Amino acid sequence: MTDQRTVPSVFVNQVHVGGCDRTFQAHRSGLLQKLLQEGSQYDYDLVVIGGGSGGLACAKEAATLGRKVMVLDFVAPSPQGTSWGLGGTCVNVGCIPKKLMHQAALLGQALCDSRKFGWEYSQQVKHSWERMTEAVQNHIGSLNWGHRLSLREKGVAYVNSYGEFVEHHRIKATNRKGQETNYTAAKFVIATGERPRYLGIPGDREHCITSDDLFSLPYCPGRTLVVGASYVALECAGFLAGVGLDVTVMVRSILLRGFDREMAEKVGAYMEQHGVRFLRKFVPLAIQQLEKGSPGKLKVLAQSTEGPETVEDVFNTVLLAVGRDSCTKNMGLEKIGVEVSQTSGRVPVSDEEQTNVPYVYAIGDVAEGRPQLTPVATRAGRLLARRLFGASTEKCDYTNVPTTVFTPLEYGCCGLSEEEAVEVYKKENLEVYHTLFWPLEWTVAGRDPNTCYAKILCSRLDRGRVIGFHVLGPSAGEVTQGFAAAMKCGLTKQQLDGTIGIHPTCGEVFTTLDATKSSGLDAAQGAC
Ligand code: FAD
Ligand code: NAP
Repeated sequence: MTDQRTVPSVFVNQVHVGGCDRTFQAHRSGLLQKLLQEGSQYDYDLVVIGGGSGGLACAKEAATLGRKVMVLDFVAPSPQGTSWGLGGTCVNVGCIPKKLMHQAALLGQALCDSRKFGWEYSQQVKHSWERMTEAVQNHIGSLNWGHRLSLREKGVAYVNSYGEFVEHHRIKATNRKGQETNYTAAKFVIATGERPRYLGIPGDREHCITSDDLFSLPYCPGRTLVVGASYVALECAGFLAGVGLDVTVMVRSILLRGFDREMAEKVGAYMEQHGVRFLRKFVPLAIQQLEKGSPGKLKVLAQSTEGPETVEDVFNTVLLAVGRDSCTKNMGLEKIGVEVSQTSGRVPVSDEEQTNVPYVYAIGDVAEGRPQLTPVATRAGRLLARRLFGASTEKCDYTNVPTTVFTPLEYGCCGLSEEEAVEVYKKENLEVYHTLFWPLEWTVAGRDPNTCYAKILCSRLDRGRVIGFHVLGPSAGEVTQGFAAAMKCGLTKQQLDGTIGIHPTCGEVFTTLDATKSSGLDAAQGAC
């Protein structure tokens, strides 16, 4: 259950304290005595701090297992004053509004294609930012309500207050009016997530927005500069351009750090072809407001990362997407001795999500070294509750977590990037199969035949097992999900070859891959 292979292995009231050293340490800090006194004297069996993807899943599961549970969730307004309801980042300012706005952009592309398929329309086609945002926010409202309802149905106490540890096993909850209430619990889960980072340059907090503000922006952002080049930046830039706006992305170094380089560049190339301008190797120095308004006008001064060259340009909106800071400050973690990484600001945890303080756990974005994705947070939360309060010993498996970047042409992947695979397996032990492909839907529409791309990385040391899966094409998220399940089962190249495709689909290319990179054969595909 604990992976501890030495004795003694000390448990107190189902909490694993650890071996000899950690038990003495707990004794010295007074924690051991507290744990020994633990019983019904606490208000709750579990208090979860943070009502996002991970926290809600954990709280609901613990309640289903018969425990007395409370969730504290509080959204500090962004510097622009934006705030939202229950459900955390994904529901309010992440996956959900992002995917809906991506869909708005895809519909625009479909409208262009539709004439080629015989649709005729004479009215001028235009997009209303306000109507899109209203519809998206209405849907989010229904999700907020759904979360509140399901907490109530499961008997979880929901308190809309900010949580801060004041002493061992005791948390102070402060509501919007500043009223404070203390609660005690046997166990705590930190699931406080992250918030967008600012640059610390003149004018950024005053004049820039972040993804926290974009999805409920009451006016069309107009000519937009997106600063940053990772998931959030490229996805937002993609849908803003897709709904017809003039968009520039300012890239400090590379696109999509951490992803397969070849795929990342192809994502960027497609965006560039579809009207997104990239200003590479520049960082902003100052943002100055020229005109107030909705939107106003902002002058951006930026400098090259390679020399003294500077550029100036005027935008209506500047969207900062330069990473996110963990919500671990100002919550009293130091008062109970929970360790926080000096470099990342996240909470180091064991493979059972336990922090260095035995009765405190951390899940989701705030936990060190975990993929920062909603399904990961949700799974980790649910499994943690089952281990704490049920008979389960199942741990969350963080390997081969699939993901998709919802850029105008979606990029889905699972497993290793080509660079990681070469590092881990060495080039000579790898076989890379790849092909460009032309989705049938793109043929009549007259779209480029050599843009969509499929690639798998196979280990020669392990019967051709697929250790990396990459696809750039329509609905890449849908395609990747199924192959991720197959990879979990140990998918090999031979098994892919033995799988009969579904024709005509994009996913079928993976059943007929025969060109290897090492052969130097053309990756362009012939007709079916
Ligand atoms: P969160 O969902 O962030 O929830 C934490 C909650 O705790 C928040 O409500 C916060 O206000 C609250 N809180 C913080 N401190 C306190 C405190 N002291 N007391 C009380 N409450 C507190 N993931 C995907 O899988 N797919 C996607 O397509 C995707 N798109 C994304 C798009 C964007 C723009 C962003 C920003 C993220 C996206 N993600 C996506 C990532 C995903 O949203 C996160 O991984 C996920 O929400 C993490 O869940 P969590 O429970 O760890 O934290
Ligand atoms: P991120 O992955 O940390 O990327 C930060 C980006 O900002 C990088 O491109 C970085 O450039 C750039 N940057 C950092 N500091 C900068 C500075 N001072 N000036 C200019 N540029 C700067 O952050 P993120 O995009 O916010 O994503 C956070 C997490 O959310 C991701 O890890 C992901 O798990 C999750 N997410 C998931 C999805 C999805 O599943 N589709 C979508 C969105 C977010 P460098 O490369 O030069 O450092």
